[in-house]
Amino acid sequence: MSYDATNVFAKILRGEIPCKKIYENNDVLAFYDINPKAKIHALVITKGMYTDFQDFMEHSSDKEISDFFRSILTVVNMLGLKENGYRLVMNTGKNSGQEVPHLHAHILGGEPLTTHTL
Ligand code: AMP
Repeated sequence: MSYDATNVFAKILRGEIPCKKIYENNDVLAFYDINPKAKIHALVITKGMYTDFQDFMEHSSDKEISDFFRSILTVVNMLGLKENGYRLVMNTGKNSGQEVPHLHAHILGGEPLTTHTL
């Protein structure tokens, strides 16, 4: 699948629509999900234009991969989720139900997650 620059996260990155920002660096932007599926539901997106995990792992550099996953940890710690745990989800492609075709990791936590699905 080729990257579609009209997707909602590309618009957020271009500043065309707002987000509730948590963290930003040269490589990633993290913000709260607009329709939270848990008490705390954050999204971490790359600034690079990748459609999903598969595209990212096949076409990005080791530095981009490292920066992305280290940034996820930074956000987890900022949100105070380290002690009680959390769930990371990266929906990838058609069968996953991925809605937004721009690479993102969901961070869910702040409460027990046994009844939550994404
Ligand atoms: P996925 O199904 O993995 O592609 O997840 C996309 C997520 O993006 C969903 O949980 C949506 O609630 C969330 N979302 C969609 N639009 C926005 C937005 N403008 N700001 C924040 N989150 C959004």
